[in-house]
Amino acid sequence: MNATSRLASVDFENLPFSSVFSDHMLVAEYRGGRWMSAEIRPYGPLPLAPNISALQYGVSAFEGLKAYRAPTNRVLLFRPWENARRLNRTARRLAMPEVPESMFLDGLRSLVKLDAGWVPPSGAGALYLRPCLFSIDPSLRVKPAEAFLFVIFATPYGAYYAGSIDAIVSSRYVRAFPGGTGDVKPAGNYAPTLLADREAQEEGFGTVLWLDAREHRYVEECGVLNVFFVAGDRVLTPALGGTILPGITRDSALQILRDSGYAVEERRIAIDEIVEWHSKGLLRECFGTGTAATVSRIGRIRYGARDLVLLPDARDLAGAVRERLVGIMTGTMPDPYGWVDAI
Ligand code: PMP
Repeated sequence: MNATSRLASVDFENLPFSSVFSDHMLVAEYRGGRWMSAEIRPYGPLPLAPNISALQYGVSAFEGLKAYRAPTNRVLLFRPWENARRLNRTARRLAMPEVPESMFLDGLRSLVKLDAGWVPPSGAGALYLRPCLFSIDPSLRVKPAEAFLFVIFATPYGAYYAGSIDAIVSSRYVRAFPGGTGDVKPAGNYAPTLLADREAQEEGFGTVLWLDAREHRYVEECGVLNVFFVAGDRVLTPALGGTILPGITRDSALQILRDSGYAVEERRIAIDEIVEWHSKGLLRECFGTGTAATVSRIGRIRYGARDLVLLPDARDLAGAVRERLVGIMTGTMPDPYGWVDAI
């Protein structure tokens, strides 16, 4: 099928995530200590040797962000420079070369402009963009690699209904540990969570609520979301401390909440404290933030034999933050923060 007919056959209203990819991708190669110029080519397979260290040792990092179509028809990116910076923090941690911020941002904008037809209509979803950086070094020695690819590809998806999530506290596995890579985004952070996710699903839960590795006491993240709690009139979120991914949605939600008058506490939050809030009737809301769903309500937390059920709260802070964030991202509300990159 040619590009035009492929696009014409897409039903943006009912498009599952990652079921179809846009026409082009950006590819840049790093060799001999420098980046070659990036090129945009048709989306498709890359010829890769089986011995590259991305495959053998997980020398691979990624980012994720979305492009929305505003009612004016402009295409909007949300804080893409933050993704560029986070990718480079991951790159440094994995002894990979940084991607020049201009190559990341200009490449992203050029790709989105060229494939703008793949950005769903205003109100109907988003074009998800996946920048990734990985080693194509063929050496089997475990050492910092010397050859890399930086690739960006894109997949559109339909309107995403952010229903509530049920989470189970993992007593067996941890996602991150002090000195590890929990505060950056290497591919290798994700594979070890898959078994925990599968076991959670077998018990009827959508995802895992991760505790810290050292004491198994403090809440860190919920699946691939940062977490917030509303206890009485207080709003709290775990402080970033090297084991939590600094989510761009988390940072944006914090800003919106603080500007709305909430003195959000960023600190360690023990799971026992959450149980206590719940038993005293103080736990009003729990929600997760992340690029995929922006803000998702967490409706139930299982911790050992306890089930903490959270009914929708009349104040619905999660809903208010979501509405504001989505409004800014989609160009239906003003952007006082300069977060939106209109291309
Ligand atoms: N935590 C993890 C482990 C994640 O993978 C993500 C998704 N990038 C997040 C939190 C949320 O980050 P962001 O708001 O930047 O999407």
